[in-house]
Amino acid sequence: MKVGAVNSLICLGIESTADNLGVGIATPDGTILANEISTHVPAEGGIHPREAARHHAAEIGNTLTSALKAAGIRGRDIGIVAFSQGPGLGPCLRTGATAARALATYLRVPLVGVNHCIAHIEIGRLATGAADPLTLYVSGGNSLVAGFESGRYRVFGETIDIAVGNCLDTFAREAKLPYPGGPAVEQLALKGNQLIPLPYTVKGMDLSFSGLLTAALEALRSGRWRLEDVCFSLQEVAYAMLGEVTERALAHTRKAELLLTGGVAANKRLRSVIGSIADEHGAKQSFVPLRYATDNGAMIAWTGVLAYSNGVRTPVETSYIDSHWRLDQVEVPWRR
Ligand code: AMP
Ligand code: MG
Repeated sequence: MKVGAVNSLICLGIESTADNLGVGIATPDGTILANEISTHVPAEGGIHPREAARHHAAEIGNTLTSALKAAGIRGRDIGIVAFSQGPGLGPCLRTGATAARALATYLRVPLVGVNHCIAHIEIGRLATGAADPLTLYVSGGNSLVAGFESGRYRVFGETIDIAVGNCLDTFAREAKLPYPGGPAVEQLALKGNQLIPLPYTVKGMDLSFSGLLTAALEALRSGRWRLEDVCFSLQEVAYAMLGEVTERALAHTRKAELLLTGGVAANKRLRSVIGSIADEHGAKQSFVPLRYATDNGAMIAWTGVLAYSNGVRTPVETSYIDSHWRLDQVEVPWRR
């Protein structure tokens, strides 16, 4: 470890779980000095893991340079390198991990592997000031309700098939709407007003979006409905399902705060559903700011600071990625 590294706890974080390559820089007091993002946009179809990984490999040099420039620091000011270790797409994760290992080795600073889902929660807590929220984390690859209990984030409910963001993106692609689909569906839904019967699937505390996607696509292809009404109905059903599970988890845990995070947290209709639930239960509502809603490096850098300051280290030799790494497998010493 380089001399002075103990004092220099500035952390550079690399995010590369899916189509976003992110490099963020965070200080120990929670100041985000940089948050650079380069997104791979597929020429056609959904994310192709190897093509996205190729994009990340090609862009990592530039993105690192821009992050250092934005932060006004040099490589030697970095005291920790953190990276998204999972869950995510294997080739994308491997590219980010390789860059992180190389950088940590070159700078002779410690490496910290970060769980991507936990990072979404931690950046939400940092940015909104929520201390101990129940969190609904909804993105292109994940949909879950989690809260901190006895040393870990526990999952109270989650999707058993596809993520809600994936459902919106796939629907939008088939409907020839621009990529990514979530914002496009949201805009069209504003012009819809007819609720088409679509399957609402909550099983216990878990959710399923694949039947909803199939039925929405069938409604679209049938030609019986306006696209605006299909978008409206798709959103209403999907967000009601998420609302039900979130509300039950909130009633069960009695947390005083409710946090909405992840890329789909940008959606105004979902915010209003979650906001009403928080109000009804007397919980404080928090929405992650848009710049930290989608996958980003700042959340990895900040979680790296928290983990490193509480003894977490990831030796380079064993810094394998884990594309199925669950957040409830991770010890969270910084919240003890
Ligand atoms: P992430 O996986 O966290 O990077 O978030 C990306 C996902 O967020 C994609 O599935 C997007 O379609 C979705 N998304 C972004 N903005 C919105 C929005 N306004 N409404 C719904 N989904 C959105
Ligand atoms: Mg994500």
